Amino acid sequence: MMDHATSVGNLLLTALPPADLALLAPHLRKVVIERDSVLVRAGDRIEHLFFPLSGAIAAITELPNGQTVATAIIGHEGAVGLTSSLGAPASPATAVVRISGTALQISRAQFLAAQHRSPAIASMVQVFMMSLLIQLQQVAACNALHSVEARLARTLLHLHDRANGGDALPLTQETLSELLGVRRTTVTHVVSTLRASRALKSHRRGQLEIDRPRLEALACECYKVMRREIDRIVSRGATGLVHGAPARGTFPLPSSRRAGTSS
Ligand SMILES: [Zn+2]
Repeated sequence: MMDHATSVGNLLLTALPPADLALLAPHLRKVVIERDSVLVRAGDRIEHLFFPLSGAIAAITELPNGQTVATAIIGHEGAVGLTSSLGAPASPATAVVRISGTALQISRAQFLAAQHRSPAIASMVQVFMMSLLIQLQQVAACNALHSVEARLARTLLHLHDRANGGDALPLTQETLSELLGVRRTTVTHVVSTLRASRALKSHRRGQLEIDRPRLEALACECYKVMRREIDRIVSRGATGLVHGAPARGTFPLPSSRRAGTSS
């Protein structure tokens, strides 16, 4: 159980030189991240960091009146909890798994210990923070300026990128309401609009089946801007900010267990 090798599928970790990755590897534990599980709640102390290998996690901001909106979607190009390495241990957002997958989990204390010994790991944190900043700025502009239809299309494309094959996304109308920060009645209206233009094929039993080309035609430019900019920053970080050859590989990890609490 301890000896099967798993490839490093997280882009931030893959960018690390082998010696720096070796500082983290003994403390990384592969976990299953299941849909609807909450990895950390806003305001709670971050105890663990998660580097997704697959799946997607929504960073949700909740207002005092209970309204919520997704401010970022994080997949294998990022990490959850990395803001705590800047010094503030409280999570700025609630992290909810929206597409199931797997992640490498490490305790905050063990990550910080490695970060203090490794300029490459510190650079990796900077790379992620820059990509997160780009995403937060674009989402802020999009939420203020673009239609709910375009925002829904953008969000679905982002999640579809991280879904493990297939065009059916496990999203209920309640989930869409939480992600978009709009009422359920608005979601119903927007979903029917997208169905009329055949960008959505069906919405049954919490499965939303998309037509990706049609959805791309309806999405605002924010989707492509974010995709391009985040990919550019993360891939440049892999070759520029850190030195040495990228990690090639594989390292032994224990078998998976579940992460987070049920939402
Ligand atoms: Zn937009």
